[in-house]
Amino acid sequence: MRFPLRLNYDLTRYIIRNKFSKTTRYPLVLMLEPTHLCNLACSGCGRIREYADTIQAMMSLEECLASVDECPAPVVTITGGEPFLYPHLNELVTAVLERGKHIYLCTNGILLENALATLPSHPNLTLNIHIDGLEETHDRILERRGAFKTAISAIIAAKRRGFRVCTNTTIFRETDLVEIDMLFSQLEEIGVDGILVAPGFGYEAVGEKLFMERQEIEKKFITVYEMSKKHRFFSTPMYLRFLKGEKALTCTPWGNPTRNPQGWKAPCYLITDNHYATFAEMMSRTDWDRYGVGRDTRCAQCMMHCGFEPTVVAEIGKSWRDILEMMIWNLT
Ligand code: SF4
Ligand code: SF4
Repeated sequence: MRFPLRLNYDLTRYIIRNKFSKTTRYPLVLMLEPTHLCNLACSGCGRIREYADTIQAMMSLEECLASVDECPAPVVTITGGEPFLYPHLNELVTAVLERGKHIYLCTNGILLENALATLPSHPNLTLNIHIDGLEETHDRILERRGAFKTAISAIIAAKRRGFRVCTNTTIFRETDLVEIDMLFSQLEEIGVDGILVAPGFGYEAVGEKLFMERQEIEKKFITVYEMSKKHRFFSTPMYLRFLKGEKALTCTPWGNPTRNPQGWKAPCYLITDNHYATFAEMMSRTDWDRYGVGRDTRCAQCMMHCGFEPTVVAEIGKSWRDILEMMIWNLT
């Protein structure tokens, strides 16, 4: 089975509960960014640029846990910045696990290996390591020589200690897909449990021509989709079919709400029009109909998982082909 039974059970129960209560807008994954501080300055990173003026700001442990408690999402992605620079990370992970939630802990892998000895190992915890190519490419994108070797060594060490590990690869305009295929084989050889893949988002703050437009994404993801037949992807087949232009999906911006030191970021993980003090305020005061492809020019080229994977979840059940495809995918 691709995902742990407990995660499948908790997510299914949560979705059914929302369907029964006729709740139309509910979050699936809380994106928690305790700090935007990072030990790297990757070429494609919107976060460290957008929040450059407040990069030293940090949420207290109490604020992080209050955010977890006010947002009903069963999955919490702890991200940033680099979460291993957050001084209360271990306490945060422990407390979120005690609340019965599932955690994806995102990292660039630089500090991971040294942190493994004290990080609580738990079946609900998945380490998610950012890898954008083989050694030369990855080090160039992360602008740090040795970043690839450090991350690979940390993955091997994490697997030895029994952690569940996945990786996260961004596909840019310049990405060589033959190299990515080789990378995925190498990651599987060292025991990675799953692979997430998505096109980069054209952050205004990055302002470089790294990112693809819709048609370019669709062309590149025809090949990436073929890779999903031989590598163990965590990205869903429906999302991958959307990325290659075969399936239409609209965005679900509230699916992955983001909380950071400035507040609840609206409307989504990618673009910012407001920060709100509470989750409830963000949900009620955001004019959701203003956002999405064809409604906001900033959304025009967006095909990011944070907006469209939640739509996949909402769409399941509408077509037998999708149900069957997702069942087979999850069971293999
Ligand atoms: S490691 Fe992540 S947060 Fe840090 S600069 Fe790179 S993309 Fe941004
Ligand atoms: S289309 Fe993308 S950028 Fe626009 S609201 Fe949705 S997730 Fe955000």
